[in-house]
Parts: sequence; structure tokens; C-alpha cells
Amino acid sequence: MGVETEAREELLDLVRSLKERLRVDGESGETLSYLFRENPGAAEPLIPGPTLSTETSAGRRSDLEAVRVELGECRRCSLGSLRHRLVFGEGNPHSEMVFVGEAPGADEDEQGRPFVGRAGQLLTKIIAAMGLKREEVYICNILKCRPPGNRNPQPEEIMACEPFLIRQLEAIHPRVICALGSFAAHTLLKSEAPISTLRGRFHRYQGIPLMPTYHPAYLLRNPGAKKQVWEDVQAIMKALRNGLEV
Ligand code: URA
Repeated sequence: MGVETEAREELLDLVRSLKERLRVDGESGETLSYLFRENPGAAEPLIPGPTLSTETSAGRRSDLEAVRVELGECRRCSLGSLRHRLVFGEGNPHSEMVFVGEAPGADEDEQGRPFVGRAGQLLTKIIAAMGLKREEVYICNILKCRPPGNRNPQPEEIMACEPFLIRQLEAIHPRVICALGSFAAHTLLKSEAPISTLRGRFHRYQGIPLMPTYHPAYLLRNPGAKKQVWEDVQAIMKALRNGLEV
């Protein structure tokens, strides 16, 4: 690649990341005040760098935003050109509790939000039964884009998307993770064991207690399994209340 082409690519990358940053901040109600320097001669960056990492609430939010910015208009796998909306995740960036599902379905693909279809409504009820509000937890998926016809995620899609999930979880650093369904449990735990044997007890993901349980879509087809999910979320509530020895 010639020097000019390289410089052009670099400039295009910068413009893309600035556009993405503006879009993410606009959506989250940020004032975009960093665009207007009080002291034009000052050396602060125009775009706050993604490496900012403090324990303040703003620090954690910007860690998560930096992941979103880097993901950009992702085309790292073939799902990128098939989706309508990328579904990054939503909720409280300081939450003690993160739910990780499989992948967006048709409703999520249309709205750009996780778990808003029928399975999502059931998840919202489960969260309410835990005494929490949806906005208090963080909800995301293994894949950020909808597989066509809701087919299973493919290994190369998981491989392309997983680094962003890892960084989301690093940024939020919850006290407990709940993996919804086998894809989430298998991806996070690097286990092939059936969800029926994984669920019901805590495992560890990067030192964080992780409870696998059945996916809400499975519960819609098998309402009898709600009892086990209730047991699993009760164990999570107890762990959040009392701390956990795994
Ligand atoms: N199923 C999932 O796994 N995730 C969603 O966001 C919606 C349905």
C-alpha cells in the first residue's frame, strides 16, 4: 500500500470512529461537550481515548463506550452485511448482574436492543421476579448480529464477536453473570457439557461467579423448566445478597 493510500485509510478510520463515537454519545444522551475545547491551544484529545480506565462511574461508562466505538459498523463476519441493526447490549454499565444470551432475533434486529421479543419479555419478568428492574442489570449476547432465520451461531461468528463480549464484561466487571442457554454457557465456560448438567451451580468466568440456566426461548417451548430457572435465579439473588463461596 502506498503512503498516500495508507494515510487516506488512516484518516477514513479516524472519521469512522468519530462518527461512531458521536452516534453512541448521541444515543446515550451525552452532551458531546468534548467537541468544544474551552482552550483551543490545549493538548487534550478531541476524542477521549478508549484506554481511559478509572474506577469512577464515568470511567466505566467510557470503557464500555470505547468497546462500542471499536466495534463500529462491524463487518468482521458475514452476519454484518445481513443484519438491520447491530445489538450491542443495554442496561446499567455499573451493574452487579449481567445476563448473556445467544444472539439477536428478528425483533432485536429491528430495534437494535437485546431481548425485546417474546423471549425478552419473559426475561424481563424473570428479572422483575428477582426484585430488579431491567434498567438495573446489563443484558447482552454472544453475537451482536442476527443469524438469518435464527439459525445457530457458527464457530467463526462466535470467534469474531467474542473479543467484544470479553471486553464488555471486563468493563462492567459484574459480581455475577447469568449465561442464558447452551451457546452462552459453552462460549463463556469453554465447556461442551449439556446445559442441563451445567445449570444449577456456579462456575467461574475470569474469577466471576457464573450461573448457567435455560434460555427464555427454551422456557417458552418447555414451561416445565421454569421451576429450575427459578431455582437458578434464587441462587443468584442469594449470592448477590450474601456474597458467594464457589
Ligand atoms: N434471544 C437471545 O439470545 N438474545 C436476544 O437478544 C433475543 C433473543
